[in-house]
Amino acid sequence: MSYVDEALERVIAQNPAQPEFHQAVKEVLESLRVVIEADEEKYRKEALLERLTTPERAILFRVPWVDDKGQVQVNNGYRVQFNSAIGPYKGGLRLHPSVNLSIIKFLGFEQVFKNSLTSLPIGGGKGGSDFDPKGKSDREIMAFCQSFMTELFKYVGADTDVPAGDIGVGAREIGYLYGQYKRITGLYEGVLTGKGLSYGGSLVRTQATGYGLVYLTSELLKCHGTSLEGKTVSVSGAGNVAIYAIEKAQQLGAKVVTCSDSTGWIYDPEGIDVGLLKDVKEVRRARLTEYKKRRPSAVYTEGRGVWSVKVDVALPCATQNELHLEDAKALVANGVYAVCEGANMPTTLEATQFLQENGVLFVPGKASNAGGVATSALEMSQNSERLSWSAEEVDAKLKDIMINIYHNIDNASKKYGMEGNYVAGANIAGFLKVVNAMEAQGIV
Ligand code: NDP
Repeated sequence: MSYVDEALERVIAQNPAQPEFHQAVKEVLESLRVVIEADEEKYRKEALLERLTTPERAILFRVPWVDDKGQVQVNNGYRVQFNSAIGPYKGGLRLHPSVNLSIIKFLGFEQVFKNSLTSLPIGGGKGGSDFDPKGKSDREIMAFCQSFMTELFKYVGADTDVPAGDIGVGAREIGYLYGQYKRITGLYEGVLTGKGLSYGGSLVRTQATGYGLVYLTSELLKCHGTSLEGKTVSVSGAGNVAIYAIEKAQQLGAKVVTCSDSTGWIYDPEGIDVGLLKDVKEVRRARLTEYKKRRPSAVYTEGRGVWSVKVDVALPCATQNELHLEDAKALVANGVYAVCEGANMPTTLEATQFLQENGVLFVPGKASNAGGVATSALEMSQNSERLSWSAEEVDAKLKDIMINIYHNIDNASKKYGMEGNYVAGANIAGFLKVVNAMEAQGIV
C-alpha cells in the first residue's frame, strides 16, 4: 500500500467519528501524492505524514458560566495546537453549537497550510466552543468569554499561541477575551488578534478576509484575461467574510446579487445594498428577513438555494460543506466561470471535483481566505513594534500577499504537472515550507 494510503487509513482508524477531519486530511493527502511518492521511503521513515496529521497538542476544557436567569450552563472548550514548525500557533476561535473536536481539528489542520501560504511566520491552530451566541445578552456573552479565557490563558501568549475570531467571534467577543487575559496575567501583549483599534488592533483586520478573497479572485481573473468589472457574483453568508467580500467586489465593479444566513437567502437583482446588510447584521444582529423588509428589490427564500442563481463568479463565505454536488451542477449548468472559497472547506469533495472536471476555476479557502490570518500576523507585527500602520499600508500589504499566494499556488500546480489545479497547488506549496521547517528541527 502506498504511504499516503497508509497514512489516510491510520487517521481514520485513530480518529473515529471525526468526518470533517477525515475529509480535510483526505483532500490534502490526495493532492500531496505526487510529492510524497517521489520520495516515499524517506517520508515513511520520518513518519512525516503521521506527524503532520497529529496535532502537537489538543486541549479540551469545561466552560461553566451563569445565564441571566441565574442558571449555571456548561459548554465544551477546545484549543487544538496543530503545528508550530514555522511560528507560534495561529488560528481563530469559533463559537457555534455545531463545534466539536472533529471540526476544530479539521480547521486547525487546514490552518497549518493556509498560514504557510501567507509567507508569514505563523504556525497553525484553532479553537472554540459549542456555545451558541445567538439570542444571548451582552452580559451572558461576557460571562462566557471570561470563563473561556480563565482556562485558555494557560496555553496562549504573544509568542506561543495567538487566537483570533471566526464564526460567532467578532470584535465584541475578542474584547471580552482580551480583557480577561489581561486581568489574569497582568500582561498587555498581542495575545489575540482582531482587537479593537483603541487597544492594539490593526486597521483593515475586520475587512481583511473578504477583501483578500476578492483581491485573489481579481488576480485569478486577470491572469485568465478577464476581470471582475461587470461580472455577476453570488456570495453565501452574511457575516464578517461575506460582508467585506461583497463590499470589495462591488468596489471593483461586480454586481453581487445574493447573500444568506443559516435560515434563508436573499436574491437582490439590483445588487446587495452592503450598507443595509451591515446595519442588519453588524448593528442590529437581525435575520435577513429584516433586509428584505427594507429593500423592495430583494427576494427572500427560506432554506438553501443560494447557488441556483446564474452568476459568473461564486464566493461561498458561510461555513463548511455548504456547497454540495447538486449546487456545483447548478452553477456549472448556469455557466459559472470561477468559484473561490471565502469560508473554510465550504465545498464538498464531490462538488470540488465536479467543478474542476467541468473547467471551472476553483480556489480553495486555504489560499483564497488567507487574507484574514495574514492581516492578523500584520497585527502581531504592529503589536511587537508597538506601532500602528495606516489603513493604506495594511491594505497594500494584504493585496501583495494575496497576489503572491495566487502566483505561488499557480506555480506549484504547474511545477507538479497539474496546471490550473489550485487545490493541489495550495496543498503542495503550503506543505513544502512546513515540511522543510519540520525536517530542519528534528524529531519533535
Ligand atoms: P460569521 O459568524 O461572521 O458569519 C457566518 C455566516 O455564515 C453567518 O451569516 C451565518 O448565519 C452563516 N452560517 C453559519 N453557519 C451556517 C450554516 N450551518 N448554514 C448556513 N449558514 C451558516 O463568521 P465569518 O464570516 O467570520 O466566517 C465565515 C467562514 O469564513 C467560516 O468558515 C470561517 O471559518 C471562515 N473564515 C473566517 C475568517 C475571518 O477572518 N473571520 C478567516 C478565514 C476563514 P447566521 O448569522 O444565521 O448564523
